[in-house]
Amino acid sequence: MRLSLLISLALGLIVSTVRAAADNDTRGPFNPDGWFGRTTDVCIIGGGASGTYAAVRLKDMGKTVTVIEAKSTLGGHTETWTDPASGQTVELGVETWHVTNASMRFVDRFGIEVEYGLAPNTRDMLFVDYQTGRNMVGGVGYSLNDILAAQANYAVQRAKYVNLSSGYYLDSPVPEDFTLSFLDFAKKYQLEAILYFFYLQQQGGSDFLRQPALYVLKEFDLDRVVRSANNVTMRAKGQMHQIYDLALQELGDDVLLDSHAVGFLQNRRSNNKPSILVHVENSSSHELIMAEALLITAPLTIDNLRGLYPDPQETSLLGKFVPHYYYTGLVNSTGLPTNAEYNFAATGTEFHIPEVPGLYWLRSTNITGVFDFKYGHNTTDISRQAIQDDISAKVHAMHTSGDFNTTGDYNPQIIAFASHSPFGMQVSADDIKDGFYQQLYAEQGQRNTYFTGAAVAGHDSGELWDFTEAVVSKIAAAL
Ligand SMILES: Cc1cc2nc3c(=O)[nH]c(=O)nc-3n(C[C@H](O)[C@H](O)[C@H](O)COP(=O)(O)OP(=O)(O)OC[C@H]3O[C@@H](n4cnc5c(N)ncnc54)[C@H](O)[C@@H]3O)c2cc1C
Repeated sequence: MRLSLLISLALGLIVSTVRAAADNDTRGPFNPDGWFGRTTDVCIIGGGASGTYAAVRLKDMGKTVTVIEAKSTLGGHTETWTDPASGQTVELGVETWHVTNASMRFVDRFGIEVEYGLAPNTRDMLFVDYQTGRNMVGGVGYSLNDILAAQANYAVQRAKYVNLSSGYYLDSPVPEDFTLSFLDFAKKYQLEAILYFFYLQQQGGSDFLRQPALYVLKEFDLDRVVRSANNVTMRAKGQMHQIYDLALQELGDDVLLDSHAVGFLQNRRSNNKPSILVHVENSSSHELIMAEALLITAPLTIDNLRGLYPDPQETSLLGKFVPHYYYTGLVNSTGLPTNAEYNFAATGTEFHIPEVPGLYWLRSTNITGVFDFKYGHNTTDISRQAIQDDISAKVHAMHTSGDFNTTGDYNPQIIAFASHSPFGMQVSADDIKDGFYQQLYAEQGQRNTYFTGAAVAGHDSGELWDFTEAVVSKIAAAL
């Protein structure tokens, strides 16, 4: 009773102070001296790849941490699914780690045994027209020589921007090529023959050809495009999620699962040290945390930042991000021949790229008769049922096309589903040109608030961990 009274009083203070802060008055009425709630050096919002890495590294540096994670587990986009019948597993999210200094350190830290390169793949590679369900036997229209030439052209352009692998450290003025649509960039440098393959491998279902070229250049670095996967990629011998299970065991009570930060307040202690009070909520209780620094790793959506970021200037900067929507899962009872990957393409569109929202592929997994799928949209969230209906319609079209050795009975059902939305936060070409990323990076460390995560540094765990390493070193030095 006493505790809940204390909390409601403190929450009242947060609300009034957030209002005060919104009026640019950061001196709220709350006096943190004499505080007796949970205190921590760093409060980390989001316990995915970057939040977990940050928590472990900061602890190793002797700092105390509290991680606020919305889901009931750490790991974010890393989701290992276990078949209840056979105990076999399938990775629904992150499948490989880029080999970087930080990724090597992190896997060693938890004694994860790794294998180098991509998982062996003996599946037949087929292309299916997304509207008619017909087998595109001619492939997607380019010869191997065309593809190799376009790949070489791309490598020449990408080599100009090696810094992009470390984050969005952009020069001023921003190179004009970054703000071209990727279609215009591709036409300028004769990349047409690789467009479909980039589309297939890119993550997140954006309107691929129309996004600013910056994002494609960021995602497809030289390691990904020209180097052998055996040198630049690794994966866990067991399950990819294991590293997060081990991290959770070690972090223990430093992690608050199923929790959201719903308000925060900045103040100064009498020793003039800044402190941040974070109001955390889960389904049954509230908690207040006093931190010396805040590290935001969750996607920088307005919803995630509401109540968390009282500064209107920052909210309008971060409010420029537009998310995409990305889903993965498993489907059974397709009646399709197994040991195959059905990559959806288009007979009638430019470069054979289908329209979004759309199904990228159905690929057979190690579990007989079970296919994994990836599905994306660039503007709105899509329900599981809508995706189920679309997959059923596409499988039906493949059966009726008569182009595949299908069996008579089929009734595709999604048996595992993961929404990875919001995903792939991007800003417009004009915002990139106007210095969005320079302004965002200038915010790093202001009022003891720091950022990392895919929106800030890109969707590559290895590169993200390198970026996060630099951020946590900065935080540790500042505390
Ligand atoms: C299907 C898929 C496959 C991928 N495959 C690979 C791959 O093979 N290799 C690779 O390197 N990268 C891959 N990626 C990219 C991947 O996104 C990044 O590697 C990395 O996991 C991103 O880390 P992050 O910390 O930014 O985000 P996340 O790992 O998503 O972490 C963000 C966390 O914040 C939590 N959160 C969100 N909002 C709140 C809130 N308000 N309060 C508290 N917590 C919140 C989320 O629940 C989540 O756990 C893949 C992504 C997807 C979706």
